[in-house]
Amino acid sequence: MERAALVRCLPCSSVLCRRYLHLRRSYAYSYGCSSIPFSRPSPSLSLPRRRSSRFLPSSSSPLYFRNRRHFSSLSPRAVLSPSPSSSPGFIEVKDEVAHQLGFQKLSEEFVPECKSKAVLFRHIKTGAQVMSVSNDDENKVFGIVFRTPPKDSTGIPHILEHSVLCGSRKYPLKEPFVELLKGSLHTFLNAFTYPDRTCYPVASTNTKDFYNLVDVYLDAVFFPRCVEDFQIFQQEGWHFELNDPSEEITYKGVVFNEMKGVYSQPDNILGRAAQQALFPDTTYGVDSGGDPRVIPNLTFEEFKEFHRKYYHPSNSRIWFYGDDDPNERLRILSEYLDLFDSSVAPDESRVEPQTLFSKPVRIVETYSAGEGGDLKKHMVCLNWLLSDKPLDLETELTLGFLNHLLLGSPASPLRKILLESRLGDAIVGGGVEDELLQPQFSIGMKGVSADDIHKVEELVTSTFKKLAEEGFDTDAIEASMNTIEFSLRENNTGSFPRGLSLMLQSIGKWIYDLNPFEPLKYEKPLQDLKSRIAKEGSKSVFSPLIEKFILNNPHQVTVEMQPDPEKAAREEATEKQILQKVKANMTTEDLAELTRATHELRLKQETPDPPEALKSVPSLSLQDIPKEPIRVPTEVGDINGVKVLQHDLFTNDVLYTEIVFNMNSLKQELLPLVPLFCQSLLEMGTKDLTFVQLNQLIGRKTGGISVYPFTSSVRGKEDPCSHMVVRGKAMAGHIEDLYDLVNSVLQDVQFTDQQRFKQFVSQSRARMENRLRGSGHGIAAARMDAKLNAAGWMSEKMGGLSYLEFLRTLEERVDQDWADISSSLEEIRKSVFSKQGCLINVTADRKNLANTEKVVSKFVDMLPTSSPIATTAWNVRLPLTNEAIVIPTQVNYVGKAANIYDTGYQLNGSAYVISKYISNTWLWDRVRVSGGAYGGFCDFDTHSGVFSFLSYRDPNLLKTLDVYDGTGDFLRELQIDDDTLTKAIIGTIGDVDAYQLPDAKGYSSMLRYLLGITEEERQRRREEILSTSLKDFKHFMDAMEAVKDKGAVVAVASPEDVDAANKDRPDFFQVKKAL
Ligand SMILES: [Zn+2]
Repeated sequence: MERAALVRCLPCSSVLCRRYLHLRRSYAYSYGCSSIPFSRPSPSLSLPRRRSSRFLPSSSSPLYFRNRRHFSSLSPRAVLSPSPSSSPGFIEVKDEVAHQLGFQKLSEEFVPECKSKAVLFRHIKTGAQVMSVSNDDENKVFGIVFRTPPKDSTGIPHILEHSVLCGSRKYPLKEPFVELLKGSLHTFLNAFTYPDRTCYPVASTNTKDFYNLVDVYLDAVFFPRCVEDFQIFQQEGWHFELNDPSEEITYKGVVFNEMKGVYSQPDNILGRAAQQALFPDTTYGVDSGGDPRVIPNLTFEEFKEFHRKYYHPSNSRIWFYGDDDPNERLRILSEYLDLFDSSVAPDESRVEPQTLFSKPVRIVETYSAGEGGDLKKHMVCLNWLLSDKPLDLETELTLGFLNHLLLGSPASPLRKILLESRLGDAIVGGGVEDELLQPQFSIGMKGVSADDIHKVEELVTSTFKKLAEEGFDTDAIEASMNTIEFSLRENNTGSFPRGLSLMLQSIGKWIYDLNPFEPLKYEKPLQDLKSRIAKEGSKSVFSPLIEKFILNNPHQVTVEMQPDPEKAAREEATEKQILQKVKANMTTEDLAELTRATHELRLKQETPDPPEALKSVPSLSLQDIPKEPIRVPTEVGDINGVKVLQHDLFTNDVLYTEIVFNMNSLKQELLPLVPLFCQSLLEMGTKDLTFVQLNQLIGRKTGGISVYPFTSSVRGKEDPCSHMVVRGKAMAGHIEDLYDLVNSVLQDVQFTDQQRFKQFVSQSRARMENRLRGSGHGIAAARMDAKLNAAGWMSEKMGGLSYLEFLRTLEERVDQDWADISSSLEEIRKSVFSKQGCLINVTADRKNLANTEKVVSKFVDMLPTSSPIATTAWNVRLPLTNEAIVIPTQVNYVGKAANIYDTGYQLNGSAYVISKYISNTWLWDRVRVSGGAYGGFCDFDTHSGVFSFLSYRDPNLLKTLDVYDGTGDFLRELQIDDDTLTKAIIGTIGDVDAYQLPDAKGYSSMLRYLLGITEEERQRRREEILSTSLKDFKHFMDAMEAVKDKGAVVAVASPEDVDAANKDRPDFFQVKKAL
């Protein structure tokens, strides 16, 4: 799974989408389908998570700037005024205690940026290194990282990453990882494969739970069953499948299909091609994730050898972070590390640098495109390797700063000039990339016609030349500086634990034997950079960098991507031929043996673990679980006739606000324009300010502003809850600026710039097309919802297939009907922004809340008052048919859903436990483990009553639907012992109590208010969760039978599979070609 999806985040899940949007090169793969967008059911009683995660906030404000990776690599953490350089009373490890446990203290530092005491230890016997970071953060993090550079593209490191989590010495069951997903309070649980390393991180706020997680992970990496059990390798990696000697042989395997999905996305192919061409002589010249064409070359022997060599303490780096006792950390580690002697692995796993080219290189790649006459389907990306060795931190920070100046906001010159050129639809290449040994820079465009490719290249070069000669303007420098500083000090990692974000930064240097403390500190390099800019002027700081790294750098690779309508079919045919050959060379006995092995593997996958094995995975007891939900302080008041919610929470002097407007009186036909309306507000400029000036002002005065629609069903009501949300944040000293700017954005922005609007449309279309390939399950889910309720219908109009169709016609209309469109945008403003139906949410500490009241009162008085307009009745749905949305892909996304409230089900808290259990057992086993899909899960939207099944990167179609339909029978036959039930309950509570930073707490509380969820209800649901019994599971059977009988099916799938399905079940699918 991409790095992009690692970050699950705020309720609106925007970080995730942003990452897709910026098209950062995807580096890491991760294990669990926990990282699939909204796949891990997190049945918070508050948030219609799926609906909100289907939307991208349409602004490109720097609010979510933190995920610009080069900064995140420098962005530890959060203090407004650095504390004095002493360690405030954290427990220390005495030297002699460390020694007794087999460790030697190498160095220690107090890091004011993260208010932490960090100690580096070395395990004397093996040389394993340990960073032990102590502070008062309750969200504790552990991670073990191995250097795992591959020599070929068979995907060994990735398959191993999956496989070690499939059972170990102390935990001899099929997948301890899944047991932890089901039954722990983890705030993070996953594993990632990078091009040169593999990370296993866990996090929890509960100390006992945390150590349980650590133990399972340590046992998994050092003593996995997969090195003895060939079937695990087959299941996670690849194998031949033959159900009957008369049928065709096929390839199966979780990683195999995950990577087929990756290789179905042109942006991914582009990123891979660029990396491999930049580093032809090193380990980065191959794909650690695995190329589906090469994966079947991997043997079990090579796989085992790779584990033996690299999963050794001597080759590991271990991270602990949080408020637990550092002595205990060493004790736990010594139990494992002492069992090993030292090895030569660190010498063999060292990553060698790429020597620089003396002249540029050009390569041409193809990707599978749908047929059709659109010529603007080429992509071109320019890439540079910036240095033959790692950069020093100051240069790295300066380069990151330069990157933000070039690309960080819609006003940034490189981004702006490329998009305004209209040579392509959207930008590809994410700028600076500094997570590997040597830093790179990439930039280009997609949606380019063949004739314009050279023009894009020339434009990139001439823009760099111009910027090197002229420099950046002072306001731009100030805006970037403030944005970066804000992000560093706010340290808002969303739902990603802060300690994990720090770990990934530290590892980025430590893994190359550099100082692990350095990346944790930003204060000094930041101050140095600021004073250099003040003294020498920004031009003399940045121009030499542009010249050295870009203009005079011969190590450049240009990648051109061409659409190839036959590619998918050709690759499929090649695979078939190979498999036919394999079969032709087999004797009758061989075939019988393969059939037997196929059945044996499936039987093993489908047989539940024995209860004794399940008991080996440690778990909390119900006594460890708080009986009451986490409460967020909320005061509901009124300022000049507008409802104001205030949340008194410690936010480190940052003020967070949401200003929410009701969309009920919006005309239906204007709905698809809403996302573009939101983008226009932030990117079109006012009477007095150009959009560049407006953006710079937002950057200089605030931590960012974003605007996006939010829609959800409300339980028990016909009408949906639909709002436009304006989100912003600022330091306490800039509260008034923040509200003034929001006011200008809402009231003064002019919808007059036709050319910019046209860019927004093309960008959005390109983004939607990318979603269709990469997150087809989201598109399928939106489509099913649109058939089942009005809120779903609205969301789909603003972010689903209907939206994509709308954008395609709009692209032409902008030229002919601009006046019309512009006045529609004006009409949206008039019908939405009004004092009536406005609600303001504020999160900050008591003092700042009090200071805000006057400002809010002034803001409210400036809002227009509209006479009450008749509210629109949203009694609309898409027809309830089975649809196949056809795209060129090698893997499918399959969904089925129904509204179970309509069939008589009444909400009970046990539904959270049951749907999570179905996801993690029945669907995981059948859709992923034996079906070979990367993910399969279900989701219950308690607001609308829609229960949906979804699969992700799935080689099957009808077979998966059969699994969904078998859920009722699964429940019918289910036997569940107390232990398993307790685990399921605890895991559900872990989701409900998901760790949140203060801004997210305030936001969730506001959503609960909007959706009418009271504290009493939350308490009742919690009690229902805690008292879930087998009877509830049996009772849920009827609901599952209803989905089976009445559910609507939507699949995003390949033309071949849809044809086959319609042959098998005539007229089952209505076919809609989308790409
Ligand atoms: Zn994976």
